[in-house]
Amino acid sequence: MIVDYHMHLRDSAERIAHTVDGVEPFVETAASRGVAEIGFTEHVYYFRQTLPIWTEPYQTERCVYDLDAYVDAVLEAKRRGMPVKLGMEVDYVGERQDELAELLAPYPWDFLLGSVHWIDGLAVDAGPDVGMWVDHPVDEVWRRYFSALADLAASGHVDVLAHPDLAKIFRMRPDHIEYPALDGVALEISTAGLRKPVGELYPAAAMLEAGPPITLASDAHVPADVGRDFDRAVVHARAAGYETVSVFEGRKARQEPLG
Ligand SMILES: [Zn+2]
Ligand SMILES: [Zn+2]
Repeated sequence: MIVDYHMHLRDSAERIAHTVDGVEPFVETAASRGVAEIGFTEHVYYFRQTLPIWTEPYQTERCVYDLDAYVDAVLEAKRRGMPVKLGMEVDYVGERQDELAELLAPYPWDFLLGSVHWIDGLAVDAGPDVGMWVDHPVDEVWRRYFSALADLAASGHVDVLAHPDLAKIFRMRPDHIEYPALDGVALEISTAGLRKPVGELYPAAAMLEAGPPITLASDAHVPADVGRDFDRAVVHARAAGYETVSVFEGRKARQEPLG
């Protein structure tokens, strides 16, 4: 089985399309690429129900959409028989993680994806000359990134970690990388890194050595990117010894044969 468990519900011009009509082109691309099931994972800071959490203009400016409309669009697609799962890309927010989880608790998630994009309000992936990279040495950025990722995993509030070694996005790496222990969560193998300056899959093989469960992910922001480069993701998984992929329903995972 092939799943794509990371995508953002947009139209072909990257405009928000939180409707069942918006879902259809993603389902069509998935079918054409042999992807059996897709999971929508909109950024959590897009939804006004989560507004109390956000502090950065980048987040509050985008925090205008209705969470119920998003959830209803995906659930309606399910009711119509489309192979879709309801997810969310949930940001690391430090000591407010429990509060954010409470805001999301009323909804029937199939899985929650955890991401570290900001640490103490400073972006990891906005550019090589902004955010975390301005006043912190490279090894410090990586150390704090993985510390935040481990915190997010340990929170119990997410099921899968997105783009697990995102800190490599701009090709700035310490001489020695110390990978964290991340228990109780799956890691996504993401092809999005192939479209970023780093030009690599996330995560590095070293992060898969302990054998955490995996999902496959495109991080598509347009329907055309669903399942993109998944032949490479499957090769990466097999090379690391994987024969199964995680399939989620109601925040419970089962393993299905990979491929
Ligand atoms: Zn992300
Ligand atoms: Zn994403």
